[in-house]
Amino acid sequence: MFFHLFKKSKIDFLKSSLISSFTYLSVIACNTATTPPTNSSSKIVTTFLPVHLFTKAVVGDTGQVDILISPGMEVHDYQTTPDDAKLLAQADVLVENGLGMEEFLSGLIANAGNSKLQQINASEGIKVIEEEHEKHEHEEEEHRHHDEHEHEEEEHGHHHEEGDPHVWLDPVLAQQQVGNIRDALIEIYPSNADSYRSNADAYIQQLQQLDNEFQQTLAPVKGCKFITFHDAFAYLARRYGLQQEAIVEIPEDSITPKNIQRVQQVANRYQVKALLTEPGIQDKRVQQISRDLNLTLEAIDPLESGETDPQYYFQAMGRNLEALARACS
Ligand SMILES: [Zn+2]
Repeated sequence: MFFHLFKKSKIDFLKSSLISSFTYLSVIACNTATTPPTNSSSKIVTTFLPVHLFTKAVVGDTGQVDILISPGMEVHDYQTTPDDAKLLAQADVLVENGLGMEEFLSGLIANAGNSKLQQINASEGIKVIEEEHEKHEHEEEEHRHHDEHEHEEEEHGHHHEEGDPHVWLDPVLAQQQVGNIRDALIEIYPSNADSYRSNADAYIQQLQQLDNEFQQTLAPVKGCKFITFHDAFAYLARRYGLQQEAIVEIPEDSITPKNIQRVQQVANRYQVKALLTEPGIQDKRVQQISRDLNLTLEAIDPLESGETDPQYYFQAMGRNLEALARACS
């Protein structure tokens, strides 16, 4: 509820966060004398699975890495809890994917009132793919009043203001994310620099190997057009010369007759090879669409939830590669 109020308007939000940071500042000022000094080990919190895996890979055994959104919870439409604010209040560093994926963060950070919290945006410097509907809206609304535009955005809810955030599904951009996390952590904890560097090197090498496997396996099926359940694979498709069309924008969206109509049109107009569903998606209409359009049904994992071992990325991406190769062959 509290967080919903924050969302109400940007101006309200700014006002409230200013007030809450001032309140917290004074609380902190009163407490510092009695609070014992924190130990020197790193206190790093990550938002959701991919940045968690990458950060853990870099940190290795130099410290603990927590995750805000426990795997299994929906990240696109996440509602924060009071425990999240507590976790952030005690953290030194917060690592996020960025690109509008973690829309809940600004309100949460204001609530945590941790003036020492350092934020790392893993997607720093990555050039994003603009989302289809955004281009469309931008064209349509250019002449409209700014407030009206903002109102529209709120109604849309899960609007990714900064473009498509699913960069972690491209093994090359994933290397850039790991590098960003490494460099930022070295600045914050310089005494761990050597460990961070060698851990990141090893992980980046694995990502390079994964990229090679994707290139080799998918080269013979270049141009393959596939339909996914949610709009997560545009970076991966672009990297390997494939084309993605999605049924819905985010996993929590329900499939509308309009979505089905569009997928049918795309499938008829182009030689679409397969329909790729996701682990955990039980919607019978996905199966129905695949039967109606005579499309092979495979599962592909957007890695928005899963196991928290950094090696899980390679296991899941390996399975994704196999599914894509089967779907496109
Ligand atoms: Zn997604």
